[in-house]
Amino acid sequence: IKTIGVLTSGGDAPGMNAAVRAVVRTGIYYGLKVMGIRKGYAGLLNGDMEEMTLRSVGDIIHRGGTILQTARSAEFNSEAGVKKAISIAKVFGLDALIVIGGDGSYRGARDLANQGFPVICIPGTIDNDIASTEYTIGFDTALNTVQDAIDKIRDTAYSHERCSVLEVMGRHAGYIALNVAISGGAEAVILPEKEFDIDRDIIKPIIEGRNRGKKHYLVIIAEGVGGAVEIAKYIEEKTDIKTRATILGHIQRGGSPTVYDRVMASRMGAYAVKLLKEGKINRVIALQKGVITDFDINEALQMKKTIDEEMVELNKILAL
Ligand code: ATP
Repeated sequence: IKTIGVLTSGGDAPGMNAAVRAVVRTGIYYGLKVMGIRKGYAGLLNGDMEEMTLRSVGDIIHRGGTILQTARSAEFNSEAGVKKAISIAKVFGLDALIVIGGDGSYRGARDLANQGFPVICIPGTIDNDIASTEYTIGFDTALNTVQDAIDKIRDTAYSHERCSVLEVMGRHAGYIALNVAISGGAEAVILPEKEFDIDRDIIKPIIEGRNRGKKHYLVIIAEGVGGAVEIAKYIEEKTDIKTRATILGHIQRGGSPTVYDRVMASRMGAYAVKLLKEGKINRVIALQKGVITDFDINEALQMKKTIDEEMVELNKILAL
């Protein structure tokens, strides 16, 4: 392998730039040529790429988003699209591709691998919803962004003795919601992984909390459940507590990456290049029990991830 391509795909996540920087600099360190592909698989199909230098990744480690930009490509999501992408990659002399993205991007990379084009995937999404890894780049920054918003909302909720209903991102997964429920001290959290009953899981803890002397309340709703505005109305009707809904939205995707995201992105980016250097292909990078490791891409996509039941229970205890 002499020339590698790197792209970011799917939703952007803080720390993707740190990963791109690590891929480029480690690649050049090992004598490889590194091509930066713009706008994910869509850019690959258009041959939208150029050679990266040590300097082209300067001054990006602290920046959110992705300098390579990202896209969702419907054309790539077909056998003809994948074959076309491989032929374009060959035109530009690419021997392997490093994909930084979420599980949709992993499936795209698997299609390339199964058609004979070598790939390595790095987990990059704020949602932390990739089964093969405990952590994805951007998750930590998103958690901190949400926590900052919760602290601000708490100040005003306390002053007015209100209930705040906060809808947080995570697509079909509740990892952001569950973590910020604990770090933010939420009275209730509603996750897509668990069936819920609004009276049992939201109204009851609020009323019981009020009876124990609570004056303000925080309810976290995961994006995969949704309906924060309707839930807020229902809480107000049932309890007479003034309730306000906030849907945080894309603020959660931006911002300067945390130290943890920068360090992990740097380590995973370098790890990806080292795998290729050792001749290992079609692997995904993962964090397992705190250690960076790698799995076969087809095996990784068979894996399942569950929500931590102990954390769900812990939140109920700490909300007393
Ligand atoms: P995030 O979780 O942050 O949204 P993601 O990588 O899951 O990121 P997707 O939009 O699902 O984001 O996927 C990105 C791109 O990967 C798609 O536009 C498409 O080109 C490709 N892709 C997605 N799903 C598949 C699939 N099942 N097979 C092949 N390619 C896919």
